[in-house]
Amino acid sequence: MPPSSLEQPTKEQLKAWDRRLVWHAFTQMAEYEPLILVRGEGCRLFDIDGHEYIDGTSSLWCNVHGHRHPRIDAAIRRQLDEVAHVTLLGASNPTTIRLARRLVDIAPEGLEHVFFSDDGATAVEVALKMAFQYWRQRSDPRPQKTCYLALGEAYHGDTLGSVSVGGVERFHAMFKPLLFECLRVPPPDLYRMPPGVTRDNATCYYLAQLEEVLAQHHERIAAMVVEPLVQAAAGMIVHPPGYLRGVRDLTRKYGVLLIADEVAVGMGRTGRMFACEHEGVSPDLLCLAKGLTGGYLPLAATLATEEIWNAFLGTYAESKTFFHGHTYGGNPLGAAAALATLEVFDEEKTLENLPPKIARLGEHLDRIRRLPPVGDCRQCGLIGAVELVRDRATKEPFPWAEKRGWQVCDHARREGVLLRPLGNVIVIFPPLSITLDELDRICTAVERGIQQMTK
Ligand SMILES: *Cc1c(COP(=O)(O)O)cnc(C)c1O
Repeated sequence: MPPSSLEQPTKEQLKAWDRRLVWHAFTQMAEYEPLILVRGEGCRLFDIDGHEYIDGTSSLWCNVHGHRHPRIDAAIRRQLDEVAHVTLLGASNPTTIRLARRLVDIAPEGLEHVFFSDDGATAVEVALKMAFQYWRQRSDPRPQKTCYLALGEAYHGDTLGSVSVGGVERFHAMFKPLLFECLRVPPPDLYRMPPGVTRDNATCYYLAQLEEVLAQHHERIAAMVVEPLVQAAAGMIVHPPGYLRGVRDLTRKYGVLLIADEVAVGMGRTGRMFACEHEGVSPDLLCLAKGLTGGYLPLAATLATEEIWNAFLGTYAESKTFFHGHTYGGNPLGAAAALATLEVFDEEKTLENLPPKIARLGEHLDRIRRLPPVGDCRQCGLIGAVELVRDRATKEPFPWAEKRGWQVCDHARREGVLLRPLGNVIVIFPPLSITLDELDRICTAVERGIQQMTK
């Protein structure tokens, strides 16, 4: 190691190393400008130059109750006094066991077993492999079920399995030669609907399309994977009411497992603990990550039904074991953070306190909707999205290279609000503990950013 990296580096050195040494996710490194965050406090983050920001995207879907929450901090410290890590391969620890108990208690009915991993992509990967193996090992095996069904514009993570079910061209097209087969139905989009489709008949229309594919291919489909209610990375495509319910009914009718990827929408984000609750849906497999630990530590969970679990039971010699694992899966520090996160939901009545915040976000979006370059504003719970378009009538998008979303977010940053756009879509999803005041500041920063951009 060169001596310089052993010393306390200066701010300028840190910025230079950040540019040159750290390869940032989803970031063009040739154009990267360092943003070095050194401290958090509630919904605020502070950078190395002393600037203060409101965390407008929950440190990317993760943070729930604010940064440095005393209750979660203390839970992690307590766990550190016991043990930081033990493996879940043939062993366990009380904290992880208690978390499994808690998750099964609060999850939609029928999900009774928890497989722990460490990130959203791994939670999905686990679900895909479980579904595949289930069909081969159940008492009436269906080994021809080897492909999957997913929505257009889906995003389920960046490992090759989760990319195979993903459908965002810009992220996923490059890797096509490496991927397994996945059938696709169009996303139930209410902004860009085919001719003749209206908000009133959209649910029926999109479900009919789904049924067509299921009717034709169900014998070879192992599972359908969906992001319930909102397709996040797609630019917040908010599904019409009844769509998820219909997906559940159709997958059941055609004998296809349903994987609900609640990595983004779970943990209270939509106003209920799990998005599936809005439509009374119990999936066969449920994926959680991001907010699971309140945004503290990498931990993920894939919940499964009794029916799936049973197909994996047998003697050692039968080899029905789920031969899959992640070294840090179920890590006790992460489990301690997750348990504390769930306790805070009760103590602070997080979900009970959400409706006024959701309403306030809605009021801001109704105002922002009137600005000329805004084609659509979408909302689900404490998720807001503002889509910028070149032409409102034709809904023609701004060219990607114009970085319109970034222009607005750069302005917001100058006003002390941290946001990250999805192309032409400005997305707002602060920690659930955000105050009305802070929410006002985020939304007015977005509004002024859009006004600036059009000047
Ligand atoms: C972010 C995300 C993932 C991937 O989670 P990672 O922790 O980044 O691997 C999967 N599914 C959805 C819906 C997501 O939003």
